[in-house]
Amino acid sequence: MTELLANHVAGRWQTGTGPGSALLDPVLGTELVRVDATGLDLAAAFAFARDAGGKALRAMSYAQRARLLADVAAVLQSHRDAYYEISTANSGTVKDDTAVDVDGGIYTLGQYARWGAALGDTRHLDDGAAVALAKEGVFQSRHLQVPTRGLALFINAFNFPGWGLWEKAAPALLSGVPIIVKPATATAWLTQRMVRDVIEAGVLPPGALSIICGSSAGLLDQLQPMDVVSFTGSAATAATIRSHAAVTRDSVRCNIEADSVNCALLLPSHAAASEALALLAREVAREMTVKSGQKCTAIRRVLVPQAQYDDLAQAIAAQLAKTSVGNPRHEGVHMGSLVSRVQYDTVQQGLNQLLAHTDALYDGRQSPLVDADPAIAACARPVLLGTRDPDGCALVHDMEVFGPVATLLPYRDLEHGLALAHRGQGSLVCSLYGEDAGALAAAAGELAASHGRVHVVTPDVGKLHTGHGNVMPQSLHGGPGRAGGGAELGGLRALDFYHRKSAIQAAPQVLQALAQSAGV
Ligand code: NAP
Repeated sequence: MTELLANHVAGRWQTGTGPGSALLDPVLGTELVRVDATGLDLAAAFAFARDAGGKALRAMSYAQRARLLADVAAVLQSHRDAYYEISTANSGTVKDDTAVDVDGGIYTLGQYARWGAALGDTRHLDDGAAVALAKEGVFQSRHLQVPTRGLALFINAFNFPGWGLWEKAAPALLSGVPIIVKPATATAWLTQRMVRDVIEAGVLPPGALSIICGSSAGLLDQLQPMDVVSFTGSAATAATIRSHAAVTRDSVRCNIEADSVNCALLLPSHAAASEALALLAREVAREMTVKSGQKCTAIRRVLVPQAQYDDLAQAIAAQLAKTSVGNPRHEGVHMGSLVSRVQYDTVQQGLNQLLAHTDALYDGRQSPLVDADPAIAACARPVLLGTRDPDGCALVHDMEVFGPVATLLPYRDLEHGLALAHRGQGSLVCSLYGEDAGALAAAAGELAASHGRVHVVTPDVGKLHTGHGNVMPQSLHGGPGRAGGGAELGGLRALDFYHRKSAIQAAPQVLQALAQSAGV
């Protein structure tokens, strides 16, 4: 029997009483560890986080909590090698892909530690100046934001077990809100190990960080009106969460990051040999292959002027042909595996559905895997699809295949291209490629309404831009409509979710005393 990982709730490590679910190596098929949450006293777990964790965190100022984040980042940094090993074993990722998850999480904590330090030794955030409610300003209104007096429940997806926790935890802890995280079962090991290291280092107050691995059963039933829930995962589970009584009856605040059919668009008037086209081809190939395409922000649709359809297909295919796929432990491998054989089957199913309406412009499925058994390993090879009927092929705008798959779509003129981009019904990100600053700015303004982030690539930033799919803590992460309607990161904007806004109406001397006070 493999090790049964413990949960950390009510301030202590507790193992489930059931047999547990096995976490597997997706390349070798071997069992690694098990997780289980059977028999945990969830009511006590949630109460301890709210009472002990919340109280201790709220007693600190923003600057003090920012120091906690820096301490957490330092603990994680000191165990980084172990996280790389776990990622290779449990997520099947090559080193560069692990870096996005592990180092991306540490970087995000570091950024919030810096921004939080600048907030200083206060215990609430001001929201605008006082305004008069009576003649001569004798009675005024001032808005402030205070940490919510509940906990934050995080229900996370399998593709970012490291970053997925810390990108949410950094603004929550900085806000003074305790966390209970439930990682996706398939890759829960890395999250559990990171939490274990942070708890054992003793850098956070008891109750500030708890982890429950295994089934999600009963978690939502524990939520109370001042709690918040932040979910990342499929639209189907998101709908279940949104319809739970905690959300519908008790107004538990809910942030949803769901799937998204993101696009990249090449503006018109670019020749086959243009730098803009080359930059797009490179970015599409990168987005298809980083983390084997298991990024919620990955490019799924590529919109290109009709005249460049063939040129771009060839340029992307030439990049994809250089990608070797297989065992991530092997030096020459660029792309490892999907997180599980279940995901492999789901990706093949989705790909076959798209293939019924599109052509394969590049099909890597015939290439051999490096040092991996195709009957066991969850290694998917990249496939570039295309259709000359982007209007009639509804599926390519609706279905996200969560793997190394993208579809090339030709447009007649820019108006048509932008209309096709909007057919994603709300996405996390789109990217634009071109050389004309005015035309790019106008297109960015058009697409902002249905995209949480618009990433514009011109030749002058060709080597410097942060990448279509990379989520930077400085920028908003989240998108409207089918992307879930969520809003994460974006610097200190992320703190809004964990704060309550209140208008204090009083005489000026009361409001001045409030502004000067360190506590509320
Ligand atoms: P999923 O099946 O919805 O699972 C996500 C999480 O929800 C897991 O922790 C899962 O636990 C839990 N869960 C499942 N059923 C639940 C229920 N009834 N109540 C409460 N929690 C429940 O999603 P997935 O297939 O793992 O994730 C892939 C999807 O996530 C992709 O579509 C991708 O686009 C999306 N995603 C979005 C973002 C973003 O930031 N927008 C980021 C990453 C991924 P178990 O694992 O134990 O089932």
